[in-house]
Amino acid sequence: MPDQSLNTSVKEKIYRVFWKTVDFLYPPECVTCSKPGSVWCSDCQAQAVVIGSNCCPICGYPTLNGQLCERCRQVHPPFTQARSWAQYEGGVKEALHSLKYKSNLELGILLANHLCEVLARTQWTFDLILPMPISKKHQAARGYNQSEVIARPLSYLLQIPIETKAVYRVKETETQVKLNREERFKNLQSAFLGNSAKLVNKKVLLVDDTATTGATLESCAQVLQNAGCCEVYCLTVARTIKYLQ
Ligand SMILES: [Zn+2]
Ligand SMILES: [Zn+2]
Repeated sequence: MPDQSLNTSVKEKIYRVFWKTVDFLYPPECVTCSKPGSVWCSDCQAQAVVIGSNCCPICGYPTLNGQLCERCRQVHPPFTQARSWAQYEGGVKEALHSLKYKSNLELGILLANHLCEVLARTQWTFDLILPMPISKKHQAARGYNQSEVIARPLSYLLQIPIETKAVYRVKETETQVKLNREERFKNLQSAFLGNSAKLVNKKVLLVDDTATTGATLESCAQVLQNAGCCEVYCLTVARTIKYLQ
């Protein structure tokens, strides 16, 4: 049996040395204020509107005094619980945009640290970390999956394995404007394919960069449950907040 832990630690060392070299060759500057020294300076990170504990205990949407949101009062979403680090606005939005469209991959490490802060406030236990999959077409065009860039350092920090072959995105579902919520959910569900062999009786943490309506997370979570997962937790860096409930 090859020593998996040794293998992982060597990989992580290579990863760290790689980024130190990149920083040396191309000194980073803050994605928000352009100050040199870091890809996202601590002052700008501190301005993020963090969601904290005053949120719906199930879906994580900010609520006054942390009560259940209106939607979860009516129907339990297809995941055990979901949380997000901050609101999708200002510097957080800029950082995620830079990670997603400008290959600013080093941001993944900083964002993974913030996800650890969120996890520290939960009682979640899980066996696997799953980055939200993107289609082969998107991955080929971008060269990477932005959720994996966050999930990989998170896996290292938590020492919990990442699994990128448990769920696939098999269909693009870009234009959904004309569909209502239920139709969109059905349409989205057919966009994912779960690999039961890797998921049955597993507790998983599904990681994504942003939750806008939550429909993508819910659809993927439903597919994971259908494939045999016993618990599905969802964690996103940011979340669009329209109004406080
Ligand atoms: Zn800054
Ligand atoms: Zn809720």
